[in-house]
Amino acid sequence: MIKKFIRKILGVKDQRDPTEPVVLGPDQHGIDPKLVSPNAIRVTQTLQEAGFKAFVVGGAVRDLLLGVKPKDFDIATDATPEEVKRLFRRAFIIGRRFQIVHVMFGQELLEVTTFRGNGSNNAPKDEHGRVLRDNNFGPQHEDAARRDFTINAMYYDPATQSVLDYHGGTEDIRAKVLRIIGQPEARYREDPVRMLRVVRFAAKLGFTIEPETRAPIPVMAPLINNVPTARVFDEMLKLLMSGQAMACLNELRAAGLHHGLLPLLDVVLEQPISMKFVTLALESTDNRVKAGKGVSPGFLFASLLWHQVLEKWNAYRAAGESPIPALHLAADDVLDAQTENLALQRRIASDMRDIWAMQPRFERRTGKSPFKLLENPRFRAGYDFLELRCQSGELDAELGAWWKAFVEGDNAERERLLNTAREPAAGGAKKRPHRRGPRKTGEGGSGAVANEAGTGGATGTDGK
Ligand code: ATP
Ligand code: MG
Repeated sequence: MIKKFIRKILGVKDQRDPTEPVVLGPDQHGIDPKLVSPNAIRVTQTLQEAGFKAFVVGGAVRDLLLGVKPKDFDIATDATPEEVKRLFRRAFIIGRRFQIVHVMFGQELLEVTTFRGNGSNNAPKDEHGRVLRDNNFGPQHEDAARRDFTINAMYYDPATQSVLDYHGGTEDIRAKVLRIIGQPEARYREDPVRMLRVVRFAAKLGFTIEPETRAPIPVMAPLINNVPTARVFDEMLKLLMSGQAMACLNELRAAGLHHGLLPLLDVVLEQPISMKFVTLALESTDNRVKAGKGVSPGFLFASLLWHQVLEKWNAYRAAGESPIPALHLAADDVLDAQTENLALQRRIASDMRDIWAMQPRFERRTGKSPFKLLENPRFRAGYDFLELRCQSGELDAELGAWWKAFVEGDNAERERLLNTAREPAAGGAKKRPHRRGPRKTGEGGSGAVANEAGTGGATGTDGK
């Protein structure tokens, strides 16, 4: 007992009893209770009043300890999903591979997860050791051991304002270290997506990856191929929308994770010609995320794949196709290839297509065309995209400046701009093989541009 106490005080990592948490009070952890969502407090309180254990867990505790307002709150409890569901009016059990309960309060969604236990060691696995389902419940210390990183395995009780730390997470937060819990190879084998999560957290938090956590990644990277594409895509999206997209991509490269695994990344990282455009796109995405503005996955992927589209667009035109149909053919080619590999959802693909299809229209600066374009519900995305093309040097800056003035100008200014506009400059490509004269019927004429009614977009992920 005394030994244990001394060890606890000294924080001796290797000998810590993983079934006994270190408990930190408000003075030790310094969490600002104002950063905790009132709905998260409601959920833990309701569960506790019904006689269950309940804590805020995972990323939210990590962010609270870092003094950052968490973007969402996960709750862990010893109540089963059925028991949780009964306690809340708007609660839904979701997921098969990893059952959780979604509890809704207004717009806020809280994920309530029942403690997972070691019984999961016998959980069904694929031939590479990947866990296919994990719905074995168990005690809290086993739940802690099944989480991915030490900094993601802490529990916060809003009622007592205490933090329970089973794996030295608070020390690792202080030292800014990302450390996997347990034996790294085994943990990556169980779930190869953890390799992508290491990279994302390291870049997002500015933490270093502890050497043993990093070492097996380049060797084990190919295991990601066995993960369902929808899940890899979800993780990629989180990575690209983390506010540190460029840092994440660099980290992926450093960890040896980029090659041959994620087809989109091969395109992005290995074609220097698109680097300037992609860098600008990712910087603008990062800035938007940091400013708390929304980011559209469609815009992001439209940017990442633009140079592929551009190359094919030019090829079709060189073969005699006129600009707008050529662009649709190019978009089809690129989207077909990526939809297969990346599980790009139809809704996102359709946004990408809209953004690309708008581009030649920015070059028509006469008559009613610019006004029609302004009314397009997706105008803003198309216009932001045009700006990127100008900034990257692909298009003449004059075109972007003209549109900026047109967007911001009053009617008189717009009329003046229409009179001063230059002739269309060959649709983005510097060379144009031959012109077939002005195409008056082109506007909105192609069925391929039309929005293929979104699917409503469940991402198809089934948990963690
Ligand atoms: P953020 O939401 O900021 O991206 P997070 O840590 O909250 O980060 P989530 O995906 O929301 O990440 O997961 C919540 C928690 O569930 C994690 O903190 C971790 O404890 C656990 N977890 C998530 N994915 C895994 C995984 N693949 N393996 C083990 N534990 C996981
Ligand atoms: Mg989270």
